[in-house]
Amino acid sequence: AQLMARGLPKQKPITGVKQIILVASGKGGVGKSTTAVNLSLALKSVEPNKVVGLLDADVYGPSVPLMMGLHETPLLTKDNLMIPLVNYGLQCMSLGFLVDEKSPVIWRGLMVMSALEKLLRQVAWDAVDYLIVDTPPGTGDTHLSLIQNLPLAGVVLVTTPQIAALEVTRRGAIMFQKLKVPIVGVVQNMNTFVCPKCKNSLALYGHGTEDLASELGIDLLQDIPLDAAITETTDQGKPIVVALPNSTQTFCGVLSHIRR
Ligand code: ADP
Repeated sequence: AQLMARGLPKQKPITGVKQIILVASGKGGVGKSTTAVNLSLALKSVEPNKVVGLLDADVYGPSVPLMMGLHETPLLTKDNLMIPLVNYGLQCMSLGFLVDEKSPVIWRGLMVMSALEKLLRQVAWDAVDYLIVDTPPGTGDTHLSLIQNLPLAGVVLVTTPQIAALEVTRRGAIMFQKLKVPIVGVVQNMNTFVCPKCKNSLALYGHGTEDLASELGIDLLQDIPLDAAITETTDQGKPIVVALPNSTQTFCGVLSHIRR
């Protein structure tokens, strides 16, 4: 880790990509992919002249094919680069495009690393201004490899407010800080609930995420409410930002921190 923080000899930009932003979480199931997908779409919607790409680096549990409603196999350029699939104006690449959707990926670490290498270096991104990278949950090989190999503009952390999720978010944040990756801030997901009857907004848990953000000296970027519409739209391959364009504002707190 120390070596990487000091030297970073191998960091090389991705051809065709200007800025790379990771979306990471300590635990699975906290809404990391939902955030990555909707954040990318919201970015495209507020900056229509910029090109946005979405790379799904979660090799064991790729979510982008389902959430973006993309199920084809990418074509190759004559130089054998994979051409990203496009939906809702977003260039997307995922291992899920290359393997059988219903079969488990039963791979050892080395195979995961070689798949990641392909996803990073053998994709024909077309003049992408922002590449949002959905990373696997936790802090493992994939993160180290991304940090070691790529110049990163920053990382957005996603957490739910339960202690178990916050504890691993803290570990993740400290890892990124140690490895000198700028932390854009933390998104709190599924803390608030809007009552469908009285429309009052209820906070379901305490101030754990706020406390963690101030302890780590990072920004709490956004509160994404627990909303059945988010699950439904995501499961239908038409994310909430596309299905209900007003919901773009749910992601503005993050956007204002990453727009350049
Ligand atoms: P992760 O990438 O952290 O594993 P996902 O983004 O796949 O998590 O989300 C897990 C599940 O929770 C999905 O079914 C998703 O639709 C749902 N979900 C995520 N965020 C919300 C939310 N704010 N409200 C309702 N459902 C949500």
